[in-house]
Amino acid sequence: MSNRTFTMIKPDAVKAGNIGNILQMINAGGFRIVAMKYLSLSKQQAEKFYEVHAARPFYGELTEFMSSGPIVAAILEKENAVADFRTLIGATNPAQAAEGTIRKKYAASIGENAVHGSDSDENAEIEGNFFFSGLERA
Ligand code: ATP
Ligand code: MG
Repeated sequence: MSNRTFTMIKPDAVKAGNIGNILQMINAGGFRIVAMKYLSLSKQQAEKFYEVHAARPFYGELTEFMSSGPIVAAILEKENAVADFRTLIGATNPAQAAEGTIRKKYAASIGENAVHGSDSDENAEIEGNFFFSGLERA
């Protein structure tokens, strides 16, 4: 079991001014920030990141949205990081997200859902490596 996960604060949450609120919830949840950056993804970069979803009907919409404005990307550390972070962010569809979760508070829809969280240790590693070099991890 790994103790790291990868997250993005998505363009909707950045535009709404919720970076600070979301980072506060991440800190309060017991996660340590290992690496963090603020950047915009090109359409091509978003397509590469979400390659696993290429066959899904929402792939075009998803990659369009994820390249529509700046995001915050971060590697987070905590015991049981992947599962605990999925609990903190809540269900993909904010209408089904539990009270007190990041998506319940800050997400508007299943497509524009405020945050990303890795779904496995393996993907956490791959996704962290997509954004960060070894030098960029504290
Ligand atoms: P994420 O990977 O962003 O943490 P997730 O693991 O909860 O989200 P996935 O199934 O991996 O959900 O879907 C990736 C992203 O694709 C979702 O977060 C959402 O932005 C978008 N998405 C998923 N399902 C739909 C849908 N039915 N319609 C539109 N967008 C969707
Ligand atoms: Mg996912």
